[in-house]
Amino acid sequence: MEYISTRGSAPALDFEGATLAGLASDGGLYVPREWPRFSSEEIAAMAGLPYAELAAKVMAPFVGDSLTYERLLELTTQAYGRFAHKAVTPLKQLDEQQWVLELFHGPTLAFKDVALQLLGLLFEEFLSRSDRNLTIVGATSGDTGSAAIDAVAGREKVDIFMLHPHGRVSDVQRRQMTTVLAPNVYNIAIEGSFDDAQAMVKRMFNDTDMTGRFAIGAVNSINWARLMAQVVYYFAAALQLGAPHRAVAFSVPTGNFGDVFAGYVAAQMGLPVAKLIVATNVNDILHRALSTGDYSQGTVTPTAAPSMDIQVSSNFERLLFDLGGRNGQAMAEQMAGFEASKAMQLTNAQREGAAALFQSARADADDMASTIRWAWESCGELIDPHTACGLFAARTAGIEAMTPVVTLATAHPAKFPEAVERSTGHRPGLPARVGDLFDREEKCVGLPGTYEAVAEFVASHATPKA
Ligand SMILES: *Cc1c(COP(=O)(O)O)cnc(C)c1O
Repeated sequence: MEYISTRGSAPALDFEGATLAGLASDGGLYVPREWPRFSSEEIAAMAGLPYAELAAKVMAPFVGDSLTYERLLELTTQAYGRFAHKAVTPLKQLDEQQWVLELFHGPTLAFKDVALQLLGLLFEEFLSRSDRNLTIVGATSGDTGSAAIDAVAGREKVDIFMLHPHGRVSDVQRRQMTTVLAPNVYNIAIEGSFDDAQAMVKRMFNDTDMTGRFAIGAVNSINWARLMAQVVYYFAAALQLGAPHRAVAFSVPTGNFGDVFAGYVAAQMGLPVAKLIVATNVNDILHRALSTGDYSQGTVTPTAAPSMDIQVSSNFERLLFDLGGRNGQAMAEQMAGFEASKAMQLTNAQREGAAALFQSARADADDMASTIRWAWESCGELIDPHTACGLFAARTAGIEAMTPVVTLATAHPAKFPEAVERSTGHRPGLPARVGDLFDREEKCVGLPGTYEAVAEFVASHATPKA
């Protein structure tokens, strides 16, 4: 399988190349040249497979010649063997129509483990084929950082530098990063906001002095391999609910549009998806874009669902590219306009294409709180505030009664205990596997919020590319 950039001018790469590159050199995102498609019979034959085997089957067409099927299956078996639930992503029924797909049984309690556990193994596999080293630089508002660190801690040929805004991540989130003491892990608390940290990371990808010395890699969802791994659980859930003979709707708590884009990919591959419901919190750029065509950046309002406090959704570009006839030149112009004015209008083709599969909803603080309460009082389930945005959207979406609606449960409630306790009176406890988090030693450096300080720290600790 070949990967092309959404902005048309970067070279096409194979799966290995796209995984190691992260962002394309023209600023675009890599997408497969075409969507692989399964027949109805092929999908039916996947029913009942163990998760690791289903994962290898669904991902094989994307991986192409970069791994043998046997090796891919070994990697998925290893990645998903670390999950605390044998089903990896168990599906729970809430009422006649509503279901939740629990994606938080990985080591760091959010859905990001599902893709990052595999991505860590893919990095190691591909780097072992040559004498290259990879320097991962990322910024996190909480969940990506811990999941990425867990996935690459102690791995050969990879260093990871993870920036978080000092004092602005929760204690659980910080400790999940800083208590990993492996020598290839560098936690950096910077003075400033998440947006400041993110801007420094983007600047480093374009800093030729740094990219000349270090192979800088990405672990956020601009990396195609992450989205690919997330396609699998849409298949897992739909197969359990009767696919390919019955269509299923999904409601997805959305920030960077990575998770819900994986649902779009599943639909392109032949999975019968009735609807994809994009759930946002009050940071609702995607809800506005999908309901009115206006994609314009507002200011970020902090909410109880911080991993969705985002005003620019990187992966939306992948959808707009696909719906706009895959014209890289036109996409580059549309994105240049957005970057200049912080606003753009979707074209008619993009709007109509999106309306065929997507709908959207916005949950405010009251909607989140009342949904957490409903899940507890009516169904006996504690859900986290991100999942609550999704479940709110699912319950108000007006999906016809015969179609099951699956909300993706993106974080364990114990990651956000205060919000859950406020709505239910019950404080969710951390699962035993992370139970001593508050007794462990922390390792972290504090740096001023300047690019120079961060670049100098990375340059003096990272391993040069070859
Ligand atoms: C990252 C995250 C999201 C948003 O996912 P995207 O792929 O960025 O849309 C939602 N919920 C939780 C708990 C997350 O960590």
